[in-house]
Amino acid sequence: MLINESKNHYFYLHKWCILTKGHVRSTITDFSRERIKLIPNDLYDLIIKYNGNKVSKLLTDASNDEDRTVISEYFTFLYDEEFIVLTENEEKEFNVDINTEFDFPQIVNNAIIDYNNKSTYSINNTIYQLNQLGCQSLHLRFYTIFNSIQLDTILSSIKNTTIRDVSLFVKYIDDNFVNEIKNLIIEKFMRISQVIIHHYPINKEKETIENKHFVYSSAPIDSCNYCGVINPIFFDINKITYLTGQNHNTCLYKKIAIDVKGNIKNCPSMKKTFGNIKKTTLSEALMNEEFSKLWNIKKADINICKDCEFRLVCTDCRAYIGNDIYAKPKKCDYDPYTATWKNS
Ligand code: SF4
Ligand code: SF4
Repeated sequence: MLINESKNHYFYLHKWCILTKGHVRSTITDFSRERIKLIPNDLYDLIIKYNGNKVSKLLTDASNDEDRTVISEYFTFLYDEEFIVLTENEEKEFNVDINTEFDFPQIVNNAIIDYNNKSTYSINNTIYQLNQLGCQSLHLRFYTIFNSIQLDTILSSIKNTTIRDVSLFVKYIDDNFVNEIKNLIIEKFMRISQVIIHHYPINKEKETIENKHFVYSSAPIDSCNYCGVINPIFFDINKITYLTGQNHNTCLYKKIAIDVKGNIKNCPSMKKTFGNIKKTTLSEALMNEEFSKLWNIKKADINICKDCEFRLVCTDCRAYIGNDIYAKPKKCDYDPYTATWKNS
């Protein structure tokens, strides 16, 4: 679409296309189509200034032909990428902001259960308690070998609970085990959406079978220390994550975790414990005022991250940060002041 052809139209940024200004560049995140595009900061400023105006105003305000050429290119980009909509008449409702007052109704929304061959606490009892709290989502991380019969028994305790979505981490044994676990999950466990098979002998492409993702990772995931890595492949372009991040921490909000020793924590990688599940219930741990201390630290509160153009899609980590509670995650190699990833 050429800008001259639409001079008499009004243009609006799509409601779920959200702009984020960074120190040296910006992004448009299209949460409806789950994609993100980098844009220059002057395009960000232009959209903020003219969103909802007539296209002709963009041209009349430009001070010279050079500016008009750049504006025309920007316009074509926005139109071709379907970030903007053109209307013949002014449509004021297109400019209404998204209501970001969002909350999960449950006491606990998501949980991590870590387990290895030295763990002695009861997973069944933990899942029973998570169900009582209304937990919806679970990461169940096995760091040592558990065969498919053991996993079948454990996973059966998730049936008929409030838990709707499970990511399962299992250690590779052999190809036979991989086939068994795939059949088990596909045939019996609807709620498991993702299986990460770690210690896989090679790096292999992810498989998706009946909406379930099977990730084959050669990473030697032996403990919770692997967690907290910030990388574009983990960016989460998701409306719920976006809305959560407006007021809360995108990783820790309404999260509860049990580490391999049964300690109840905000996340297994944290030092602070709120009792052991063998003696303390999850409800008792949650009553401790300190438990929710990190829940409302937003990306906008975090030094450096608040100047980063990826802050709306980057899940936060408060476990690996050093002593300053508002420090940028240590496992992030991105510098928003130079727009470079350290190792690339
Ligand atoms: S600087 Fe912060 S927001 Fe940006 S990629 Fe790193 S951790 Fe994420
Ligand atoms: S706070 Fe960091 S280490 Fe803990 S679960 Fe979140 S990303 Fe992982």
